Amino acid sequence: MAAKPKLSMYWASSCGGCEVSLVNINEKILDVAANFDFYFCPCLLDTKKKDIEALKDGEIAITFFNGAIRTEENEEMAHLMRKKSAVLIAFGSCSYEGCIPGLSNLHTKAAHFDSIYLNNPTVDNPLGIVPKPETTVPEGKLTIPAFYEKVKTLSQVVDVDYSIPGCPPEPKQVWNVIEAVIQGKTLPPKGSLLGAGNSTVCQECERKKEDKKITRIYRTYEIIPDVETCLLEQGLLCMGIATSDGCGALCPKVNMPCTGCYGPPVGTLDQGAKMVAALGSIIDIGEKKGLSEDELARRADLIIDSMPDYSGTFYKYSLAGSILGGRKA
Ligand code: SF4
Ligand code: SF4
Ligand code: SF4
Repeated sequence: MAAKPKLSMYWASSCGGCEVSLVNINEKILDVAANFDFYFCPCLLDTKKKDIEALKDGEIAITFFNGAIRTEENEEMAHLMRKKSAVLIAFGSCSYEGCIPGLSNLHTKAAHFDSIYLNNPTVDNPLGIVPKPETTVPEGKLTIPAFYEKVKTLSQVVDVDYSIPGCPPEPKQVWNVIEAVIQGKTLPPKGSLLGAGNSTVCQECERKKEDKKITRIYRTYEIIPDVETCLLEQGLLCMGIATSDGCGALCPKVNMPCTGCYGPPVGTLDQGAKMVAALGSIIDIGEKKGLSEDELARRADLIIDSMPDYSGTFYKYSLAGSILGGRKA
C-alpha cells in the first residue's frame, strides 16, 4: 500500500485555538487520519524537530502553520517547515496577518520587557534580570531564542502558498479545504485565501440594512441592540463592512459586532484603512449649513473621540500585516 501523504500542523506564537479549530471538525478528523499520515503537531504528537530535519525537502504534503513570528525560534521553524513542505498554508489570523500578537508592534521590545519583567506590581525582580539570547554561567553558555523587536506574519519571513483566515478559522471552512485536497480538486492560484469568500461579512449578515448614518458610537456594554437591524447603524463599531466573509457572520448572529478576525476582503490592502474610509461616509454630524469649519471639525471630533481604541478596533487582527505594520521608530 502506498504511503499516505504527510500532514503537519505547527504552532509558532500562538494561543492553541487554531489546533482546537482543527479538532473541532469532529468526526471528520477520522477522515484526516484515513487519508493522511498526521506526522507533526507539537500540540498533539511527539514528533521531534530532528525527525522533520531528516525528511526530504517537500516530503510533507501540507503544513498548516499557525501563530505569528515573534521569536528567532518561530522564524527558524518557519524556514524548516517551508523547506520540508510541498504546500505551506498560513493557518489562522496570527500566521496570516499577525492577529493579537501583532498588536504588540505598537510598542518596542524594551517597553515590553520593562512592563513584563521590571516595572510591574506583581513582579519581584531586584536584580533587574530580563531574558537574553545568551547567558554565561559557570557550567557554560545558555541560549534561548531571541525575542524580536516586532511581530511578523508568516509571509514576511517565508514564501507562503495559501492563507486560511480567522481567529481561529471556522472548522467548517477548515474541513472544506482538507476535503478539497482529499478529493484531489485543483486548488486556486498560489497566494489565494482558502476557506473564505470573495465578499464581506456584511454580505453574509442577515440583519436589515438601511441608510447607514451614525451620530455617535457606543461600546457594546452601553446599549442592548435591536436583534434585526444592522449593528453599525445602531452605533456599534461592526467591522463586517471591512472584513472578508467566510465565518457566516457568526458575531452579528449573536448580537455582537464583528471585530474583523477574517481580515481584509479580497482586493483590500488594508483593513483598518477600509473601515476608516467607510466610517467617514456614514458619520453624521447633523445639519451643516451655516456652520464654520471649526464647528464642523468639533462635531466630527466629538464622534471620533467616542471610539475607544483606534488601533485595537481597526487593526485588532491585521496590524502586523498592514501598511502601518505598527509604531514607527
Ligand atoms: S489565530 Fe486566533 S485562535 Fe489562532 S493562534 Fe492566533 S489567536 Fe489563537
Ligand atoms: S455592519 Fe455588521 S451588523 Fe451591519 S450588516 Fe455588516 S456585519 Fe451585519
Ligand atoms: S463575525 Fe467577524 S469577528 Fe466574528 S467570527 Fe466572523 S469575521 Fe470573525
